[in-house]
Amino acid sequence: MIETPKNLTKNILLGMLFGFIVGASFYYLEFLPQRLNDFFATYIFNLGGSIFINLLKMLIIPLVFFSLVSGISSLTSMKSLGNITVKTIGLYLGTTAIAVSLSLMIASIFKPGAGYSSEIAPPDKLPEGQGLYETILGIFPSNILEAMAQNQMLAVVFFSILFGIALNKTNHLTGNFSSAFEKLNTVFMQLVIMIISFAPIGVFCLIGKFVITDGLNIFQEAFKYVVLLISVLFLHVFITYSLILKVFTNLSITTFYRKMKEVAIFAFSTSSSAATIPVTLKTVQNDLGVNKNVSSFVVPVGATINMDGTAIMQGMATVFIAQMSGIDLTLIQYVQVVILAVVTSIGTAAVPSAGTITLVIILQQFGLPLEAIGIILAVDRILDMIRTSVNVTGDAAVACIVANSENLLDKEVFNK
Ligand code: ASP
Repeated sequence: MIETPKNLTKNILLGMLFGFIVGASFYYLEFLPQRLNDFFATYIFNLGGSIFINLLKMLIIPLVFFSLVSGISSLTSMKSLGNITVKTIGLYLGTTAIAVSLSLMIASIFKPGAGYSSEIAPPDKLPEGQGLYETILGIFPSNILEAMAQNQMLAVVFFSILFGIALNKTNHLTGNFSSAFEKLNTVFMQLVIMIISFAPIGVFCLIGKFVITDGLNIFQEAFKYVVLLISVLFLHVFITYSLILKVFTNLSITTFYRKMKEVAIFAFSTSSSAATIPVTLKTVQNDLGVNKNVSSFVVPVGATINMDGTAIMQGMATVFIAQMSGIDLTLIQYVQVVILAVVTSIGTAAVPSAGTITLVIILQQFGLPLEAIGIILAVDRILDMIRTSVNVTGDAAVACIVANSENLLDKEVFNK
C-alpha cells in the first residue's frame, strides 16, 4: 500500500495554527506599510492557497475516472453495483433529511431571528441556483470531454460506470485491459499523496488568506444565527453520524473521527467538497479500509449530492429570515423546507459559498425577502468552512456503512 508521509496531520494542524497567527497579526497589528501588506496577502497567501487548490482540483477528474473504472470493471456481479447505488442514495437522502429537521427544530426552539434587525445592504445581484431538473439532466452528458473539462461530477461518474461495465464485459477480448486502469489508479493515488504532502504549506496559505482579509470578527453580525448554526453542525456530526454508524455497523466511532481529522481540515481550509475529493478518497480507502468498488462511487457522488451541512445552514437561514421578517412558518411549511433543502442541497455545487446561492430557491418558494441573503453572506465565510467539513464527514460515514453492509470493509485497516 502507498504510504502517507509521517506526522502529516500534525503538520497540517500546525500549518493551520500558523496561518491563523500570521494572518491575524497582519490584520490586527498593521506593522507593515499597506502596500507591503497587500503584497503579502496577494503573493503569499492568495497565490499559495490558489496554487494548492488548483493542484487538488487537477486530480479530481482523472482520479474519479480511473478509480471508478478500475472498481467497476473488476466487479464480479453487477447486482452488487445496484445494491451499492440504492443504499448510497437512500442514506444520503435520509441523513440530509435528518440534518434539516434537526436544524429546524433547534431554530424554532431558540429563535435566532426574533428581535433581530439589521441595516445590512442587499447584495447587488442575486445569485441564481440550479434546480432539480438541471441536476438530473446533468447526469447524462452530451459530450463527455466537455463534462470532464467543466468538472461535472455526476456526468463523469455516469460515464465512468458505463465505461467500467463495458470494460468488464470485454476483458476476455481485450487481454484483461482493466488491469491497466488498476495500475493508473495506483499512480494517481501516489500523485494525491505527493500533492497532499504540501498540505501544511497549502493550509497555512488558505487560512492566512481568510484571516488577513476578514480578520476574526465573525460573530459581529447575526450572533445568535452563527452560534446556533455552528451548534447544530457539531450536533449532527457527533450525534447523528455516531448513531447511524452504531446502528448500521459495529465500527469504533472514535477511530472513525480520529482518521477523519485530515479530511475535515482540508474541507475546512478549502471550503469545497469537490477540491477535497482526492483526500476523502485516499482516507476512506487507505485508512478506513473501504473497498475501492464502494469508495470510488460513494465519495464523488457524495461530494456532489450529499450536503448535510449545507442543508442545515439552509434550514436555519430560512427560519432565521422568516422570524426576522415576522413571518410564522406553519408545520406544513416546515415539512416543505425539509423537502426543499434536501433537493436544493443535491443541486448545490461543491464549491465555496454555493449553498447561499441555492438558498435563494428556498426563500423564493416561501416569499421571504431575498435581500436578507445579505446578512447570511456577511457571516458565511467561516460557516461555509465548517459546513463543508460536515458535508465530507457525512460522505465518509456513508461510505463506511455501505461498504460494511456489502462485506467490502477491511476491518483490519479500519482499526489499525
Ligand atoms: N462549500 C460547500 C461544499 O463544497 C457547499 C456550500 O454549502 O456552500 O460542500
